[in-house]
Amino acid sequence: MEKFFWPMRIERYEELVGAATLERIMRKAKRLHGLRVINVSSTFYGGGVAEVLSSLTLAQVAIGLRADWRLIQGSPDFFSVTKKLHNALQGGEINLSELKKEIYEEINFHNSLRMQLDADVIVVHDPQPLPLITHYRRCCPWIWRCHLDLSSPRREAWDYVRPFVEEYDAVVMSLPEYAQELEVPQRFFMPAINPFSTKNRELTDQEIEDRLRHYEIPDDLPLVVQISRFDHWKDPAGVIEAFRTARREVDATLVLLGNVATDDPEGQEVFESLLDCKEERILILTAEDSALVNALQRRAAVVMQKSLREGFGLTVAEAMWKGAAVIGGDCGGIRHQIEDGSNGFLVSSVDQAAGRLVQLLKDEKLRRRLGKAARETVREKFLMLRLAEQYLDLFAAFEPRFSLASPRSGPPRQRS
Ligand code: UDP
Repeated sequence: MEKFFWPMRIERYEELVGAATLERIMRKAKRLHGLRVINVSSTFYGGGVAEVLSSLTLAQVAIGLRADWRLIQGSPDFFSVTKKLHNALQGGEINLSELKKEIYEEINFHNSLRMQLDADVIVVHDPQPLPLITHYRRCCPWIWRCHLDLSSPRREAWDYVRPFVEEYDAVVMSLPEYAQELEVPQRFFMPAINPFSTKNRELTDQEIEDRLRHYEIPDDLPLVVQISRFDHWKDPAGVIEAFRTARREVDATLVLLGNVATDDPEGQEVFESLLDCKEERILILTAEDSALVNALQRRAAVVMQKSLREGFGLTVAEAMWKGAAVIGGDCGGIRHQIEDGSNGFLVSSVDQAAGRLVQLLKDEKLRRRLGKAARETVREKFLMLRLAEQYLDLFAAFEPRFSLASPRSGPPRQRS
C-alpha cells in the first residue's frame, strides 16, 4: 500500500465543478507554471487563515505553482499588541501607545532580517506581518491579504496601519463592504474550503460515532454545536444563553468546541471564563482534531456560529457543506454565505437565536431542506478551486512584472 498519496489531486474537483471549469483553470495555471509564490502569516495553526492556507498552497502546487508559506516569529508581547490591533481594526477599543507601535514594528524588522523572500509574488496575510514590506527592496509584486472584518475599523488603528498598506501593489479583502479609501487597487475574494480534507471529507456513521465516543459526547439528544476559536467576537456566552433559553422548550445537548491560536493571547482567558457554564448538557471542549470537527458538523441537528463580527466565518461554509442547518450571526462574511430562510438562518440577538434553535430542533423537515440548499451554496461558491482561480487571475494581472530581468525580492533593506 502507498504510504503517502498526493494530498490534492486537482482532477477530483471535476465531479464537483464540471470539466469545463476545471479545464479553464488549468489553462490559466499553465500560463503561470512555476510561479514562485510566498505567503507570509503568523501562525500555522488555529483559525481560518491557517486553515485556508494549508489547503490553498497545496492546491496551488497541484496546478503547477511553486507555493510556499512562511511564518513570522513573535514574542507574547508582540502577539498581545497585534491582537489589540486586530480587535481595533474590527471596531474595538485601542490605546495605541508609542511602546506598542515600537514592539510591533521592531519585531517585524527582526523578522525581515531572518526571512529571505525570493519569489515572483509575495502575499502577506493580516496585520501581524503587514510592516515587513518596509524592509525589503521590492522587485516583485507584494499583496496584502486582510482577512478581518474592516467594515468599521477604529479610526486611530486604521490611520496607523494605512501607510504600511499603501506600500503594497494590491490589497485583497474578503468582502466589498470592507473596502477602504486607498491608492492601492483592492480586490475581494471570499475564502473557501477543501472538500477533500480530513475536516470536510465524507465520514461513515461508524467514523462519526467513534469520534463522539472518544470524547464522551452523548448523542442521545439532538446536538447543537458551535466550533470556534475562543474569542469574544464569536459570542460563546451568547450561544450558551440562547441554548439555555431554547432548552426550556426542547431538549438537546450543546457542544462548544474551541481552540486557541498561537498568535491569540486572549483565547485562554475566554476559555476559562466559560468553564463555570459547564453542566451535563453543556459541554465545553478543546481538542485538536479535524475529524472531530467533521463528525460534529455532520452529526449536529443545528450548527451555530453566532458571531458578532466575522471576516468570513469558514466554520459556516464547513458546516453548510455537510448539509447542516446553520444559525449564523448576521454580520460580515456570514451574511454572504447564509441567505436567511433559504439555506440557514441569520440572527442578531440571543432571543432570535433561541427562537430559531427551538424552531429547527422541532422541525426535521425544515433542517433537511435548509441543509440541502446549504450544501449546494458551498458547491457553487465556496470550494477551494474558485479561490485558486481568483489568485491566478490576480497574479496574471502582474505578469509584465514577472518578466523583469531579475524578478526577485532582494535581501532586507536595513533601516536601522
Ligand atoms: N477550528 C478547529 N477546531 C476548533 C475551532 C476551530 O479546527 O476547535 C477551525 C474551524 O474548523 C475553521 C477555523 O478553525 O476551519 C476557524 O475559521 P473561521 O474563519 O471560522 O474563524 P477565525 O478563527 O479565522 O476567526
